[in-house]
Amino acid sequence: FAINMTQMQLLEELGRGNYGTVKRVLHKPTNVLMAMKEIRLELDDSKLNAILMELDILHRAVAPEIVEFYGAFFIESCVYYCMEFMDAGSLDKLQGAGVPEDVLARITSSMVRGLKFLKDELQIMHRDVKPTNVLVNKKGEIKLCDFGVSGQLEKSLAKTNIGCQSYMAPERIKGESQNNLGTYTVSSDVWSLGLSIIEIASGTYPYPPETYSNVFAQLTAIVHGPPPELPDGYSEVATDFVGGCLRKDPELRATYAELLEHPFLVDDKTRNVDMVGWVSRALAYREAQQAQSQSQQQQQRSNQA
Ligand code: ATP
Ligand code: MG
Repeated sequence: FAINMTQMQLLEELGRGNYGTVKRVLHKPTNVLMAMKEIRLELDDSKLNAILMELDILHRAVAPEIVEFYGAFFIESCVYYCMEFMDAGSLDKLQGAGVPEDVLARITSSMVRGLKFLKDELQIMHRDVKPTNVLVNKKGEIKLCDFGVSGQLEKSLAKTNIGCQSYMAPERIKGESQNNLGTYTVSSDVWSLGLSIIEIASGTYPYPPETYSNVFAQLTAIVHGPPPELPDGYSEVATDFVGGCLRKDPELRATYAELLEHPFLVDDKTRNVDMVGWVSRALAYREAQQAQSQSQQQQQRSNQA
């Protein structure tokens, strides 16, 4: 069945990205809570059907590590994309209280299995692996979203802001600067996976913009500098795993099959990890932080008054 806007009761905003906003909505006919992403496009109407057709393959993207797709529709120049609501949000906002190694391994194994599923079953690469596109729920499940199924949608995005955190692999940065958009492959996702694991573990993006004088210097560091490493406190096994993702030469980077056979993920298979407990502690920490920053803001305002 097809979903549409009249069936939705709009709830609060969940977040904002470069191309639009994500809201929590209630799909009234089924009583299912969904996340609805509004994406502003620059395109002529003839492309709309092509995009809807391309998005249709998302109905086949059914796996435990992939956020479920419910459907999409257009209103004026926006596409509304409805997916499973993940009630603990994205990993970028969840690592403040720390990420123990067993939790990091479980997150990583979910990401690798999700990426391998996209490649083996749908023959697509993700193209946008980063912590904001790894979602979590209170059941402790980790799922990927926002992978590039629609080339037409990608071309039509109203790019307002390129963003100063690049998760792109060195070969992809080089390719874009030469306008060779089609030259990178699935191993570029493996690089982005490695950067994401470091960010999830350390709480900061590995090439922080404030340490470079401009975006060019930052991209130069990614292309020509040594790859980043996991912070202290993680095992040699974990560090070696991330090293295998972050080899500068894409030919030397680990494949998904190799990553799944790495001791870091093999050990994870037989281990009991309290993901539910970790998510609930991470959420409690995040809420405490938010409450603290709100009361600080109030304090500042009453000081000014
Ligand atoms: P970019 O625009 O570069 O892709 P982004 O991934 O942060 O960045 P969006 O995809 O628009 O931007 O998402 C905005 C925020 O909404 C995310 O950071 C995430 O916290 C939240 N979000 C997205 N999808 C869901 C979902 N299905 N369930 C819960 N929260 C979500
Ligand atoms: Mg996203």
